[in-house]
Parts: sequence; structure tokens; C-alpha cells
Amino acid sequence: MKTLKFNNGDKMPAIGLGTWKSGKDEVGKAVKIALNHGYRHIDCAATYGNEAEIGEAFSDFFSTGRIKREEVWITSKLWNNAHKKEDVIPALKKTLQDLQLSYIDLYLIHWPVAFKPGVEFPKNDDEYLSLEEAPIIETWEMMLQAKEEGLIKHVGVSNFSIPKLKELMEKTDSNPEINQVELHPYLQQNELLYFCKKNKIHLTAYAPLGSGDRADVLKAANEPSLLENEVIKKIAHKHSASPGQILINWNVLRDTAVIPKSTREKHIKENLQSTDVELDKNDLEQIATLDKGFRYITGRFFVTEGNTYEDIFG
Ligand code: NAP
Repeated sequence: MKTLKFNNGDKMPAIGLGTWKSGKDEVGKAVKIALNHGYRHIDCAATYGNEAEIGEAFSDFFSTGRIKREEVWITSKLWNNAHKKEDVIPALKKTLQDLQLSYIDLYLIHWPVAFKPGVEFPKNDDEYLSLEEAPIIETWEMMLQAKEEGLIKHVGVSNFSIPKLKELMEKTDSNPEINQVELHPYLQQNELLYFCKKNKIHLTAYAPLGSGDRADVLKAANEPSLLENEVIKKIAHKHSASPGQILINWNVLRDTAVIPKSTREKHIKENLQSTDVELDKNDLEQIATLDKGFRYITGRFFVTEGNTYEDIFG
């Protein structure tokens, strides 16, 4: 398995299992299936509401002695309601408790958006904090402190645009080690990819298959399907692979990590095996033409009239 390397020599496997939308009743089984099939990278987040079930699965699996905890790269994310200085480490400790771990490999600021403490998802403007009220740099400094304390090995961000990265980097000597963002052929983000490579920030691709299992309220009308795209299907046919494998492999070839979500054994297995596919120059040229700057996860759900988050990716 290809890995992404960090300054201290740590290596993150390029393909991991996503867990957003995996139900409490199915996520533990999915994690065990993934570990059994050779996954060594699991992507979690407090707001997915299933870390306790994932923790049970880790505990069961590691107690069998088949693999050690240190052999698995585990990521989690700080939710938007814990950006205030005093809330960062307690939120992290809750995640550690739920996951039944003494440390996690990577902790990310989930979004450059802050809510008031205790608000899971704001219903109106009053429930947000502006970035002046909860400056990202203060949240970031607490993330660095958690690293100092040994609670996390690496620190990063998620959903940060180039201006947001620059703003943070101007204020700190410790740049994010990774930025987790939406990446797929319809949203290739070449400028961000170049900026991050130049600044030694790894990228992880989320929604690599088009995130088709989002609730309808989170979907735009007539969203284009990646898995049904004719170019992707043709390339898949040519390589006797599935469309999902082409989409995953495309990300791996761009030297990013990629975290397809699945709770189905067939897909979990197939997704890890996507590195067997060898995309050629012609395939890559065709995929390059599919870019249309289309986001499945627009962040529009954070915009209420008059709040400060209209231009989330600006
Ligand atoms: P995704 O991985 O693009 O798509 C998941 C959907 O694809 C599910 O419906 C899944 O169904 C299906 N699927 C999986 N493998 C398949 C295959 N080989 N063939 C056909 N269909 C397949 O979407 P996502 O869950 O939004 O993104 C992946 C992960 O990224 C998340 O789970 C989460 O960990 C992370 N993420 C992070 C952020 C962030 O803000 N940082 C945002 C979004 C996502 P089955 O389960 O039935 O297989």
C-alpha cells in the first residue's frame, strides 16, 4: 500500500475507510471487515455520532492480538462547537474515550467555522461564533498543545481553502500537516493540490465516489453522478475494474490519501484493491477534462442570512 510520509517518519496508508453516515448498528462491523481485509487507516469524526461504536470494534479487534493498535492510522476531527481554547482538549478527550484509545494519529479542525459551545448544528445566526470571536489560531494552538501532550501524533485541518491556509500559516510556525478536502474528477482542485505540495501539506480526498448516500436535504437538484459518468465507466470497462476503483486510484496517483466510505463488504474489499488498476496517460487525460469545479459538499448549510460564513471556500 502506498503511504504518505510525515517529517517524523510516520506513514499514513493512502487508502482509508470513511465512516460518515455509517449507522451505529453497522459501523463496527464495517471497521472490522476493513481491518480484516487489510485496511490500516480509518477516518472518524466526533460529529458522525458513531465513534463509541467504532471504539468497541477497535477494542474487540485489538484484543484478538491479530494486529496492534500502532499498526492502524486513526484520524478524528474537532467539531465546530469546540473551537474555543478551553473546549479543544475536552472534546479530544471525549473522542479518545469513545474510540477507546490513548492517542490518535491525526486530529483535524473539521471546518473553518465555529458554533457556540453545546450547539450540535445551529438553527439560527445566534448559535454561531464569528471567526473574530473564535479565532482559528487559538484553536490551532490548542491542537498543537494536544500534540505536545502526546494525545495526538499529527495535526491538520479540513475544508481549508488556499486563503484560509495562508491566513493560518502566517500566524503559526507549525503548519498543518494535512488538509482533508473534497477531491474527485468533478472537483480536481489543482491549484490547492499545487499549493499544498509546495508547502509540504498532504491532502486527503473526501467524497471520492460522489457521496451518494447523503440525506436528500444535503443534495442539490440534478447532481451529476461520478459512478455513472460515461468516461469513468468506459475506463473502468477497459481495465476490467469498477468505476469506484478508477475514482479511488485516480486520487492515489495524485499522491493524496483517499477515504471512501462503505459498510458493504464487497465495496470495502473492492475499494482497497483499486491500487491494482494501472491508469495510463490517455485515461488521465480523459479524466482531466471532467473537472467542472462541482462540489457535492457545498458548505451552504453553514450559511444563514447575515452570518459570516457566506464564502466558506473563498
Ligand atoms: P463517498 O465515499 O464518496 O461515497 C460513499 C457512497 O459510495 C456510499 O453510498 C457507499 O455505499 C458507496 N460506495 C462505496 N464504495 C463503492 C463502490 N466500490 N461502488 C459503488 N458505490 C460505492 O462519500 P463520503 O462518505 O461523503 O466521503 C468519504 C469519507 O470522507 C466520509 O465517510 C468521511 O469519513 C469523510 N468526509 C469528510 C468530510 C469533511 O468535512 N472532512 C466531509 C465528507 C466526508 P455503501 O456503504 O453501500 O458501499
